[in-house]
Amino acid sequence: MKTTPDNSGDVRLSGISKTYGSFTAVHPLDLTVPQGSFFALLGASGCGKTTTLRMIAGLEEPSSGTVRLGEEDVTHLPPYKRPVNTVFQSYALFPHLDIFENVAFGLRRRGVKSVKKQVEEMLDLVQLGEQARKKPHQLSGGQQQRVAVARALINHPKVLLLDEPLGALDLKLRRQMQLELKRIQTEVGITFVHVTHDQEEAMTMADTVAVMNGGRVEQLGSPADLYENPRTTFVANFLGTSNLIRAEVDTRSGDDLVLTAGGGKLVLSEARCSAPTTAGGTVLVGIRPEKISLTHADDAGSVPAGRNRITGTIADASFIGVSTQYVIDSPVCEELSVYVQNVERDGRLVPGAEVVLHWSPAHTFGLDAAQDID
Ligand code: ATP
Repeated sequence: MKTTPDNSGDVRLSGISKTYGSFTAVHPLDLTVPQGSFFALLGASGCGKTTTLRMIAGLEEPSSGTVRLGEEDVTHLPPYKRPVNTVFQSYALFPHLDIFENVAFGLRRRGVKSVKKQVEEMLDLVQLGEQARKKPHQLSGGQQQRVAVARALINHPKVLLLDEPLGALDLKLRRQMQLELKRIQTEVGITFVHVTHDQEEAMTMADTVAVMNGGRVEQLGSPADLYENPRTTFVANFLGTSNLIRAEVDTRSGDDLVLTAGGGKLVLSEARCSAPTTAGGTVLVGIRPEKISLTHADDAGSVPAGRNRITGTIADASFIGVSTQYVIDSPVCEELSVYVQNVERDGRLVPGAEVVLHWSPAHTFGLDAAQDID
C-alpha cells in the first residue's frame, strides 16, 4: 500500500508581510519549513523575526499573504484553532499550581479526564519526573523553561513556536538548554520554529536557519552552508568573524578566479563567488579567521605551494585557552583576524613579528564589493 508522507507539520508562508502604519516590519516573505525540522529565525533586534513568528501563531494578522500549516490555510484562524503552541521567554507558569498541574492544564481545559499518564510521560521527556509536586518558584530558570516546553507540548501541537525561550538564562544554562531542546525536538519529531538573536544558538540547534535583516530573509540554509558560503556581508559578519579583503579580478584559470590585492595574488573558486566577476572588477574575498595559518616570516619558504598567501605584522595576540586570537596588519587589509589552535602555536608569533598568512583557496568565498563591509 502506498503511504502519503505526513506533511501536517509543514509551515508555508506565501507573501506574508506586516506593516504598522507606514512602517514595514516584515516585507513580503515566502518560506517553507518542512515537517519535523528544527528551524531558526535569526537576526538582530527589530529585524522582524518575532512578528513573523506571531503571524504563524495567529497572534498577529498579516497585512498580506497566507499562512498554511500542512494543507490547511490558517491565515484567518484565531490562535487557539491552529495546531500550534508557543513558548515565550517569560515562562508564564501558574505560580500557585505545582509542576504537574501546570503541565496538566491544557488537558484539563480540554476536558480530558485521566491526565496522569500523559503528564508523567511529558515530565519524563523534559527530565522533571522527580519535581512534579514542586511549585515553579522552587525550580531553577532552566527547569522552569522545561516545564513551559512540557506544557506547550502536552496537547500534541503540529508545530512548536519558541520566541527567545532561553533569553532569560545565564550563558552556561543556555548552552545546556540548547542541547536539551534539540534532544526534545528529535524525540517528539514535530516542527520547531525558534526565534533567536544568538547566532551560536541558531547554529547549535537548527537544521535550517533563516537570517533576517530589515524585515527580509537575507539568506536561508543549513548552519554549515551559511557559515561557509555567506552571500552578503551582513550574513558573513552576523555568523561569526569574517575577514573581507578587497581584491581586483585579474584572470580566470579553469574554474578559479585569480585576483590581486595589495600586490599579492589570491585564488577563489568562481562557484563560491556571489559577485559579478568581470576582469578589472572588484570583489570582497572572504576568509574565516580559523581557516588561516600563520607562519613566521623566517620560515616563509616552508609554506606549501598553491595556497593563498599574504604578508603582515602581528599587531596583537590574545591567549584565550584553546586558541590564540591574532590581529594582523597587512598591506592587503588592515586588522585581519587569525585564530590559531594553541597546540600548533609557535612561540615566535608575538606582536611585532613579521608573518606569512596562508590558506587553502577552497576556504575562500567571494562577495559583491558594492555592499557595506560592516
Ligand atoms: P526583538 O529581538 O527585539 O524582539 P524582532 O526581530 O523580533 O526584535 P519584531 O518584534 O518582529 O523584531 O519587530 C520588528 C519591527 O516592528 C520593530 O522595528 C518593531 O519596533 C516594530 N513593531 C513590532 N510590533 C509593532 C507594533 N505593534 N506597532 C508598531 N511597530 C511594531
